[in-house]
Amino acid sequence: QILNEFLDLKGNIRVFCRVRPLDSKNLRAPVVSDTRNVIIKLTETKKKIYNFDRVFQPDSSQDDVFLEIEPVIKSVIDGYNACIFAYGQTGTGKTFTMEGTPESPGIVPRAIKGLFKRVEESNHMFVINFSMLEIYMGNLRDLLLSQATKPIGPIPPSLLIHTDAKGEIDIDNLVTKKVNDFNEVMKLYKLGCKTRATASTDSNSASSRSHCMIRVSITCLDAPERRRETNKIWLVDLGGSERVLKTKAVGRRFDEGKAINLSLSALGDVISSLQHKNGHIPYRNSKLTQVLKDSLGQDSKTLMLVHISPKEDDLCETMCSLNFATRAK
Ligand code: ADP
Ligand code: MG
Repeated sequence: QILNEFLDLKGNIRVFCRVRPLDSKNLRAPVVSDTRNVIIKLTETKKKIYNFDRVFQPDSSQDDVFLEIEPVIKSVIDGYNACIFAYGQTGTGKTFTMEGTPESPGIVPRAIKGLFKRVEESNHMFVINFSMLEIYMGNLRDLLLSQATKPIGPIPPSLLIHTDAKGEIDIDNLVTKKVNDFNEVMKLYKLGCKTRATASTDSNSASSRSHCMIRVSITCLDAPERRRETNKIWLVDLGGSERVLKTKAVGRRFDEGKAINLSLSALGDVISSLQHKNGHIPYRNSKLTQVLKDSLGQDSKTLMLVHISPKEDDLCETMCSLNFATRAK
């Protein structure tokens, strides 16, 4: 497995690309791919090639994707923190990759299943906790609290982030539920999704304007020699990366889009600084990177899944996403 080798031998940040299928088979697509490259045909003779640790082509299955994710799940049991991000323009398949569909489950259900399976197989005693929140307009909102989001009225105050003496990040008052099995987690996950959707009359577009974050933490009760007592994995369905100036959004929509754009570029800056081993990592520039500070960098495992559309009409946004990916490498 490609990822396994990388996680062991090289750095801790991997960038994958997933190209979604075309809605209509007979459209001409300027985006072609193989397992390591995305090729953009700019003109008949001119092309641009982007390479990745792995490319999932339009016909790749959820199984194909999860096969490359599994080593990250294993590393969490082994004592590492991890982050898995879905990045991309709205409609490119971020939620399909993370959540999936009942017929075709994505990373979230598979990762949860995988964690429980490994915990059961392990010789150690673990406690698993689940939390779910969103970052909307720079505010952290608990998705396991139904009163956290309201369709109208002022935005509730953001949850506060603090760093403890060991440098670990915690979010004050964030609901953290102890979970005993897969079904319990999926029930909470569905509740979280429902809370998120009720914040807007249009849940599809609402989900483009906030980052949805799941935190699963595992605490080992009987291994004092472990690197850390508690490890966590973040599964993040990021807000849509489309540039707000291009979307002609106005008013609140514009502000929402701007907030997403700003936090995504802050995330890009952090990942790029980590990759270039810069001394200063600008975690403080967004809530997103503040929350993830102890799970992004150092010895944490990070996986960025950049989603693109092969459609001609989306080429501009596709190039932007590929450029973001290039900075992250
Ligand atoms: P996003 O979350 O990035 O806005 P979605 O995950 O909602 O995008 O995807 C938009 C639509 O395309 C959904 O109906 C989804 O099921 C479908 N879709 C996306 N990616 C794939 C894929 N790889 N295979 C099949 N359907 C996909
Ligand atoms: Mg989505």
